[in-house]
Amino acid sequence: MMKGSRHIDEFIDDVYTCVRSRCGFCFKTCPVFLVKGFETYTSRGKSMIIKAYLEGKIQLSQDLADRFAHCTGCGFCTSNCDVDRPEIFNAFRRDLVDAGFTIKRHNELCDAIKNHNTPYTEDELPLPQKYKNKINTSSSLIYYAGCTSRLRERDILYAMMEILDEFAFLEEPICCGSVLYRTGNKTAAIEQALKLADFLKPYIYLVTACAGCYINLKNIYPLLGININPTVYHSTQYVSKLLEEGSLHLAKIGTGIKVTYHDPCHLGRHGKIYDEPRDILKKMGFTIVEMPHNREKSLCCGGGGGLKSAFDETATKIAGIRATEAYNTKASLLVTTCPFCERNLADGAKINNVPITVVDLTKLVAQAILNPMKL
Ligand code: SF4
Ligand code: SF4
Repeated sequence: MMKGSRHIDEFIDDVYTCVRSRCGFCFKTCPVFLVKGFETYTSRGKSMIIKAYLEGKIQLSQDLADRFAHCTGCGFCTSNCDVDRPEIFNAFRRDLVDAGFTIKRHNELCDAIKNHNTPYTEDELPLPQKYKNKINTSSSLIYYAGCTSRLRERDILYAMMEILDEFAFLEEPICCGSVLYRTGNKTAAIEQALKLADFLKPYIYLVTACAGCYINLKNIYPLLGININPTVYHSTQYVSKLLEEGSLHLAKIGTGIKVTYHDPCHLGRHGKIYDEPRDILKKMGFTIVEMPHNREKSLCCGGGGGLKSAFDETATKIAGIRATEAYNTKASLLVTTCPFCERNLADGAKINNVPITVVDLTKLVAQAILNPMKL
């Protein structure tokens, strides 16, 4: 690939700053490093690899594609470094994809999005009538559920529909394109974002309960030069707003129950939303016990960046470490606010044999409205 035509060229200074300093503050809780144990999986290690490539000492290869696909984009490294590290790796992934070095499973997901607007191949179940009755196509608020809630984690979909009084809803899933962007397919990500932006034009507000969709719509779309009409809220922000306005009341279903909260990377480190989920839990009467890694120092669940889809075993081992950390707090619930985190953490708890229940906060909120009895 010619110098100047490569995506990585934009980040050459950042790569060399890292290589010169070699401070290594990015190591400690890189989730992939915790499981793989080799420096080449860390942020610093990836800088060294990119340097070797820039200096012509190594070529782009399938091995490098596999290595760089081992990154969840969690941003732990960035929180200890002045540079947005995942953006550097995303650029290098784009160069690898452009050179034909791709990950088979990522290709399948990307093809499914391009052809059917969603990475999943199963048919969507029909909505129960009580939720259909809440759909109002002329509402100023659209509930953008995201593919995972619509097709895989239906409990979160129904819980969110329980919380909202009325909302517009896309007739069919239209993926936000996060997977495309994070697996190095920027052009396809832009095309998908433009498609969705068109559907979102009539709305003033958008709420999603998926941390991945939230950060993609909020932070990545502007990076891609795409502005959408509605103001984007994560469900935790929207529920907080309803609570402040007094239009939502939550029963104290959590009195006497200890919970711990897992900050999804896309909501916490990337979105800086730390307080809203904790405040909602407290409003429901739960007692929060923090894990040693919390808020900006949170440990990734391992589910993001396409790691779980392509390297499930590694992703689940990472989730196992996090689930064990949660279990050690002696909390009875591990609460999170993202369907990917919920799913992966539950898988991790299972393989590590830790008896802790993983639950999305949306479901607890719905329960505090629907069935306000103590858990
Ligand atoms: S903290 Fe940043 S500069 Fe230091 S080694 Fe890690 S990536 Fe490089
Ligand atoms: S973004 Fe997360 S997974 Fe990727 S290198 Fe940084 S700490 Fe590791």
